[in-house]
Amino acid sequence: MEDILTLPEDLLSALHFVFKAPLLQALDLVDNKSVTKITCPAGRIAFQVLGSSGIPYICLPSSNFCSCQYYSFTVLKRNDVDLCKHVLAVLLSCAMEVCQEQQVSNDRMTQTLTPGHSEPEDEQPHHSRQT
Ligand SMILES: [Zn+2]
Repeated sequence: MEDILTLPEDLLSALHFVFKAPLLQALDLVDNKSVTKITCPAGRIAFQVLGSSGIPYICLPSSNFCSCQYYSFTVLKRNDVDLCKHVLAVLLSCAMEVCQEQQVSNDRMTQTLTPGHSEPEDEQPHHSRQT
């Protein structure tokens, strides 16, 4: 019987201690198969994690980067948290080999990795120049 998704509680609390991240929420994401590994012909790898509110976040586990607000407000500004639940979910999914996989074009990958491409903020309309 394979039961790779069940981790012993000791291990869970050890992980929780090590990462100081919302581990149970990360495991939830893993259980829901919310983690997709995105690759492109150029060889870039990123991970997309579908958050609990249905918003997809981009994670780059090589630098523990995540595009979620928790990451930018908590992980970057305070030093007591290393990872958000999305990056943790990516790491767990990889370890358990339960990632979905998706191949996209190089262009699509560049778009995906460009911050804010989906939510333009303070974009000035292009005024016609007056001389
Ligand atoms: Zn995140």
